[in-house]
Amino acid sequence: MSVRNIFYRSIKSRGLRLTAQRKAVIDCLVASKKPLSAEDIYLHVQRRGLGINLATVYRTLDTLVESGLAERVGMELHRAYYTLCRGRKHLHHFFCKGCGNSYDLPHCPVKERTTEDLIPEAFTVTSHRYEVYGYCGKCSS
Ligand SMILES: [Zn+2]
Ligand SMILES: [Zn+2]
Repeated sequence: MSVRNIFYRSIKSRGLRLTAQRKAVIDCLVASKKPLSAEDIYLHVQRRGLGINLATVYRTLDTLVESGLAERVGMELHRAYYTLCRGRKHLHHFFCKGCGNSYDLPHCPVKERTTEDLIPEAFTVTSHRYEVYGYCGKCSS
């Protein structure tokens, strides 16, 4: 099953309707390796010829976050960015505080072994967060 279809199915299994708008927002996030802002998604969807307004994009993103399918990242930036929760295949990012660009970190720096040692016994870890902030080459010069 494709990544899109997995997310479509998750929408339905949470009792939510799979509307054209929700599909379009998911497609956008699936196709992008970078976290996207609501404005980025809005522009992509518009370009594909589907009528959507920015408020709907925000509402859809809130729904995806509330149902655990997407997460809000880059909390220190002045606007919100979103990425889908992909479990083991997740990515961590470096965020530039100047231009808002993000870059993937090559691998997950949170080693399972380390967490195992630090987390109290009988505690099940379901997710973790690791973000790096600073200025990219262009913004720091
Ligand atoms: Zn920058
Ligand atoms: Zn990780």
